[in-house]
Formats: sequence, structure tokens, C-alpha cells
Amino acid sequence: MVYSRLGNRFASLTRKLRLMRDKKTFYLYQKGYCPICQESVEFYSEQHWLRDHFFCSSCGSIPRERALMIIVDQYRPNWRDLVVHESSPGGRGVSVKLHRNCPNYTASQYYPDLAPGEYHASGFQCQNLEKMTFSDNSFDLFITQDVMEHIFNPDKAFREIARVLKPGGVHIFTVPIVNKFNASEPRAVRSATTGQIEYLKEAQYHGNPVDAKGSLVTMDWGYDIQQVIMEAAATPTTAIIMDDLDMGIRAEYLDVLVSRKPGPSE
Ligand SMILES: [Zn+2]
Repeated sequence: MVYSRLGNRFASLTRKLRLMRDKKTFYLYQKGYCPICQESVEFYSEQHWLRDHFFCSSCGSIPRERALMIIVDQYRPNWRDLVVHESSPGGRGVSVKLHRNCPNYTASQYYPDLAPGEYHASGFQCQNLEKMTFSDNSFDLFITQDVMEHIFNPDKAFREIARVLKPGGVHIFTVPIVNKFNASEPRAVRSATTGQIEYLKEAQYHGNPVDAKGSLVTMDWGYDIQQVIMEAAATPTTAIIMDDLDMGIRAEYLDVLVSRKPGPSE
């Protein structure tokens, strides 16, 4: 199911854009309210690719992070009291807010040189999303932000996330649905026999806070991701598309997905 929440502020946006272009200062500038900072801020971008460059002047967040915060607040307003795990946090915005405000928040990163469960010098635990060391039914809320397009076996990762969620728990995540209504297409696969990476499309990397080379994109997702998750993990998934310029939420690929493990609500 895809919901669309389009703002009705296109006229004012057009006027503002014209002014900013005349001034030749920003590609986009907007005063508004940051759902992460929970205060009035300025949003600005000097580049047209708003998804990675439309920053909050206060917390430095980008649109998908603000969209995720809104959905966390809506779906789990008591997140401060929950047992939360985030895989591969970005070190700003929502990750920092959860870390500061949620006593039972933990986070992990994947380090190829460390054994799963070991701790890195940075303080993060090493976890491989395809094979986590956590017990079944450990978490109320599992967060990933632009991670699921970098997994070689996303079926396994979705099954693992469902395993470690408590019944009624949710995986709230962002992932770029670049293929939209077309089928998902793998970009790279790892051979089960040789372990070698086979590139099905040109290699593409996204920025990664713990790997200077960046993370290889393994999958161009379409909205069939919801069927993929259902078949892999039996967790029904909703994709929510948001657009709200006053909250600095405007860009391509701003879907926030919510997968709920069946069970009594928490
Ligand atoms: Zn902010």
C-alpha cells in the first residue's frame, strides 16, 4: 500500500524559489520546523539533489531523516521507553536523538574484520544484518536508514530483523525506491560458492561513515519490496511517501517503510 501526503504549498514554493534563484544564493531555502530538533530552523540546499543536500541549519539532518522521525513519532510515540536497535546509524539527526533520549537504544555497524558481537574501538558492536547474534524477540523498534539497498541477501536480513523483533514490534526504515513501480533489480550479487562479487550493473557506491570507499549498492528496489519482505519474513509492510516543505521534507525517494511483526500491540 502506498500513501501519498502531498502538501498544498506549491504556489508559495514557486514564489520562494523564484526569489532565491534571483538572488542566486541557494537552490532552495525555507524557514520551517524540524521534526528532529522540534524547533524553528532554516532548511537550505545549494544543490539540486535535495535528498542528500537539503540540510537543517540546527541538526544537519536531511529530508529522509526528518521523514523517518515523523513516522517513528507517529507509529511509536513512546519510543523513549522502548528497546530500540539501529543498524548502521549515520551519526546525526534521528540517530543522535534516539541515542540521547532512549535509555534502551543500542546501535551496531558491520565491520568485515570483526566477529559478530564483538565491539569496535568506536564503541559500536559489530553485527551482520544477515546473521545477527541477538536473541529472538529482543527489540520493540528496529531502525535502518538507507541500509537495505546495500545487503547482498536482503531476504535473510529481513528475516533476521523479524526474528529479533518482539511480537508487535516494528522495523521502521528508509530505503531509496529508485525503481518505483518497476520490479526490484539486483545490481550486484555475491557468489555462494566463490564469495566473489558479480556486478550485474555498473558498480555504484553511497557514502558510509565507517568506510571511506562507501557502500556498494546491491539492489535497485521497487515497491515490490513489500512482497519481498512478506515472503521472506511474514511482516506486512506499509510505505509512506511524504512531502511537507515546512518540515524540510522535499526530495526524491522519501519513502519511509514500516514492517510490523504480527503479535499483540505493545
Ligand atoms: Zn533539525
